[in-house]
Amino acid sequence: MLIVMRSDATPAQIERVVAAITEQGLIPHPLPGATRTAIGMTGNTGAVDKSHFEVLPGVEDAIRVTKPYKLASREMKKESTTLRFGEVEIGPKTFTMIAGPCSVEDEATTMRTAEHLMGRGIPFLRAGAFKPRTSPYSFQGMGLEGLKLLAKAREKTGIRIVTELMDTEHAAAVEEASDIIQIGTRNMQNFSLLKRVGLCRKPVLLKRGLSATLEEWLMAAEYIMAGGNYDVILCERGVRTFSDHSRNTLDLSVVPPAKALSHLPVFVDPSHGTGKRQYVPAMTYAAMASGADGVMIEAHPDPDHAVSDGAQTIDFATLDAMLAKLKAMAGLFGRTMG
Ligand code: PEP
Ligand code: MN
Repeated sequence: MLIVMRSDATPAQIERVVAAITEQGLIPHPLPGATRTAIGMTGNTGAVDKSHFEVLPGVEDAIRVTKPYKLASREMKKESTTLRFGEVEIGPKTFTMIAGPCSVEDEATTMRTAEHLMGRGIPFLRAGAFKPRTSPYSFQGMGLEGLKLLAKAREKTGIRIVTELMDTEHAAAVEEASDIIQIGTRNMQNFSLLKRVGLCRKPVLLKRGLSATLEEWLMAAEYIMAGGNYDVILCERGVRTFSDHSRNTLDLSVVPPAKALSHLPVFVDPSHGTGKRQYVPAMTYAAMASGADGVMIEAHPDPDHAVSDGAQTIDFATLDAMLAKLKAMAGLFGRTMG
């Protein structure tokens, strides 16, 4: 259920509705909007009696949300969500790039990448310290040592950090080291991990599961939001199909419906989506055209020697060329490069 307040509702009237929701044993989620506040309600197992709320002062309407995902849905919140990181924004007016190596490898690579990105106005560095690898014999990431290198890069350059959390055990450490917590494809339905990041106070980039439907993906976002963390970014990274010309099939066709059904920002990862670096630029431009709010790209000073995912990792010259094209395109899509 969604309680829509009148545009002239007072803070006291909003508080009264929040208290009334709590009194029913339900969880209130105030959602301030441009012109009015709406208050989402979750936690009910059966139907809620609308009349309890309709009669309260300052209430304009009580609306049932028909979708199984509530807080993630556009029914609950009409305006697209904008996330703010100081002067940097992720949302409908910007197109944001997150770039960096697949893994945190060493201090030199991390610093060199952070400096290159900052020099180009790219506000987010990605790199995994905890790596989900198909083979137990592959490099598993630097772990806590890797988080320290990311913290150092952030401190020295001011870049913001996106890094993956694989298990609840490391939640506090990853939350501390990151500006955005990444939840990987393989963990999209790890419900205890989703509940744990629901308690974090950093935005979460939620990758789509290897074969997840849009509804399953939005329900995973709902787990995080139900815990009180409303700052979720969806990230399409390719799904499993019969095709073998690419590592995964980048499903750009999911972007328009994801944006239609949800107010959350949607990103695209053309690196894991293709698995081949020569196809990354085309899919990045297509991501902007699809309506995505940004991209996450694997980039490295020397991709041929990257410790993981080198084949899909672009070099800095390619990154710079892509950036120039994206800046030229952005205006056509009503965005600025964030
Ligand atoms: C990654 O971003 O390096 C990664 C492991 O991604 P995914 O979870 O999409 O495979
Ligand atoms: Mn990778």
